[in-house]
Amino acid sequence: MPKPGFKSITISETVYEKFHSVYEKSKESLTMKGINSFAGYVTYMLEQNMQKDKTFAKFAPKLELISIEDDRVIIKNNIVNRIAEIVIQRGELYCQLCEVKDCHCIGYVWSIPEIYEKLHSKGLRNSR
Ligand SMILES: [Zn+2]
Repeated sequence: MPKPGFKSITISETVYEKFHSVYEKSKESLTMKGINSFAGYVTYMLEQNMQKDKTFAKFAPKLELISIEDDRVIIKNNIVNRIAEIVIQRGELYCQLCEVKDCHCIGYVWSIPEIYEKLHSKGLRNSR
Protein backbone atom coordinates (compact mmCIF):
# COMPACT_ATOMS: atom_id res chain seq x y z
CA MET A 1 0.00 0.00 0.00
CA PRO A 2 1.28 3.48 -0.81
CA LYS A 3 1.93 5.91 2.03
CA PRO A 4 -0.74 8.53 2.87
CA GLY A 5 -1.07 11.20 0.20
CA PHE A 6 0.12 8.84 -2.52
CA LYS A 7 -1.67 6.57 -4.96
CA SER A 8 -0.23 3.66 -6.83
CA ILE A 9 -0.93 2.66 -10.39
CA THR A 10 -0.19 -0.57 -12.16
CA ILE A 11 1.63 -0.52 -15.45
CA SER A 12 3.03 -3.30 -17.57
CA GLU A 13 6.59 -4.42 -17.02
CA THR A 14 7.46 -3.42 -20.57
CA VAL A 15 6.31 0.15 -20.01
CA TYR A 16 8.01 0.30 -16.65
CA GLU A 17 11.30 -0.94 -18.03
CA LYS A 18 11.18 1.42 -20.96
CA PHE A 19 10.75 4.44 -18.73
CA HIS A 20 13.07 3.15 -16.09
CA SER A 21 15.94 2.65 -18.52
CA VAL A 22 15.49 6.21 -19.79
CA TYR A 23 15.44 7.38 -16.20
CA GLU A 24 18.61 5.49 -15.37
CA LYS A 25 20.37 6.95 -18.39
CA SER A 26 19.39 10.52 -17.65
CA LYS A 27 19.66 10.33 -13.86
CA GLU A 28 22.47 12.85 -13.70
CA SER A 29 20.77 15.59 -15.69
CA LEU A 30 17.52 14.90 -13.83
CA THR A 31 19.23 15.39 -10.50
CA MET A 32 20.26 18.82 -11.77
CA LYS A 33 16.56 19.57 -12.27
CA GLY A 34 15.82 18.44 -8.73
CA ILE A 35 14.41 15.07 -9.72
CA ASN A 36 15.83 12.45 -7.40
CA SER A 37 13.56 9.47 -7.84
CA PHE A 38 11.88 7.43 -10.51
CA ALA A 39 8.47 8.49 -9.21
CA GLY A 40 9.61 12.09 -9.40
CA TYR A 41 10.70 11.54 -12.97
CA VAL A 42 7.33 10.07 -13.97
CA THR A 43 5.52 12.98 -12.29
CA TYR A 44 7.75 15.41 -14.14
CA MET A 45 7.07 13.69 -17.48
CA LEU A 46 3.32 13.71 -16.92
CA GLU A 47 3.37 17.38 -16.01
CA GLN A 48 5.40 18.23 -19.08
CA ASN A 49 2.86 16.51 -21.28
CA MET A 50 -0.04 18.23 -19.61
CA GLN A 51 1.61 21.54 -20.36
CA LYS A 52 2.03 20.62 -24.00
CA ASP A 53 -1.59 19.55 -24.20
CA LYS A 54 -2.75 22.83 -22.78
CA THR A 55 -0.83 24.75 -25.40
CA PHE A 56 -2.38 22.60 -28.06
CA ALA A 57 -5.90 23.01 -26.67
CA LYS A 58 -5.41 26.76 -26.78
CA PHE A 59 -5.56 26.67 -30.56
CA ALA A 60 -7.49 23.55 -31.40
CA PRO A 61 -11.22 24.02 -30.78
CA LYS A 62 -11.26 27.79 -30.96
CA LEU A 63 -12.90 28.02 -34.34
CA GLU A 64 -16.24 26.48 -35.21
CA LEU A 65 -18.06 26.20 -38.49
CA ILE A 66 -21.52 27.78 -38.38
CA SER A 67 -22.65 27.66 -41.99
CA ILE A 68 -21.50 27.42 -45.56
CA GLU A 69 -23.33 29.63 -48.01
CA ASP A 70 -22.77 30.21 -51.67
CA ASP A 71 -20.18 32.93 -51.51
CA ARG A 72 -19.43 33.06 -47.85
CA VAL A 73 -18.64 30.95 -44.84
CA ILE A 74 -19.73 31.81 -41.34
CA ILE A 75 -17.56 30.65 -38.50
CA LYS A 76 -17.42 31.35 -34.82
CA ASN A 77 -14.11 32.60 -33.56
CA ASN A 78 -14.03 31.61 -29.90
CA ILE A 79 -10.72 33.34 -29.32
CA VAL A 80 -12.37 36.73 -29.55
CA ASN A 81 -15.88 35.32 -29.08
CA ARG A 82 -17.16 36.80 -32.31
CA ILE A 83 -18.77 35.57 -35.49
CA ALA A 84 -16.51 35.82 -38.50
CA GLU A 85 -17.82 36.10 -42.01
CA ILE A 86 -15.41 34.98 -44.68
CA VAL A 87 -16.36 36.13 -48.15
CA ILE A 88 -14.94 35.59 -51.58
CA GLN A 89 -13.59 38.88 -52.79
CA ARG A 90 -11.88 39.25 -56.15
CA GLY A 91 -11.07 35.57 -56.22
CA GLU A 92 -9.64 35.56 -52.72
CA LEU A 93 -10.94 34.84 -49.27
CA TYR A 94 -11.42 37.86 -47.08
CA CYS A 95 -12.23 37.76 -43.38
CA GLN A 96 -14.61 40.52 -42.41
CA LEU A 97 -13.91 40.05 -38.74
CA CYS A 98 -10.16 40.46 -38.90
CA GLU A 99 -10.28 42.59 -42.05
CA VAL A 100 -7.45 40.64 -43.59
CA LYS A 101 -6.90 37.93 -46.17
CA ASP A 102 -4.84 35.73 -43.92
CA CYS A 103 -5.89 35.00 -40.39
CA HIS A 104 -6.71 31.99 -38.23
CA CYS A 105 -10.28 32.05 -39.54
CA ILE A 106 -9.22 31.74 -43.16
CA GLY A 107 -6.68 29.08 -42.33
CA TYR A 108 -9.47 27.20 -40.63
CA VAL A 109 -11.82 27.62 -43.58
CA TRP A 110 -9.23 26.10 -45.91
CA SER A 111 -8.87 23.15 -43.56
CA ILE A 112 -12.51 22.10 -44.02
CA PRO A 113 -12.53 19.62 -46.95
CA GLU A 114 -16.04 20.54 -48.08
CA ILE A 115 -15.11 24.20 -48.38
CA TYR A 116 -11.75 23.47 -49.85
CA GLU A 117 -13.37 21.55 -52.70
CA LYS A 118 -15.96 24.21 -53.25
CA LEU A 119 -13.38 26.98 -53.41
CA HIS A 120 -11.18 24.89 -55.61
CA SER A 121 -14.03 24.39 -58.06
CA LYS A 122 -14.49 28.16 -58.12
CA GLY A 123 -10.86 28.49 -59.11
CA LEU A 124 -9.57 29.70 -55.75
CA ARG A 125 -6.21 28.57 -54.49
CA ASN A 126 -4.91 28.45 -51.00
CA SER A 127 -2.01 30.86 -51.16
CA ARG A 128 -1.03 30.35 -47.53
ZN1 LIG B 1 -10.30 36.28 -39.29
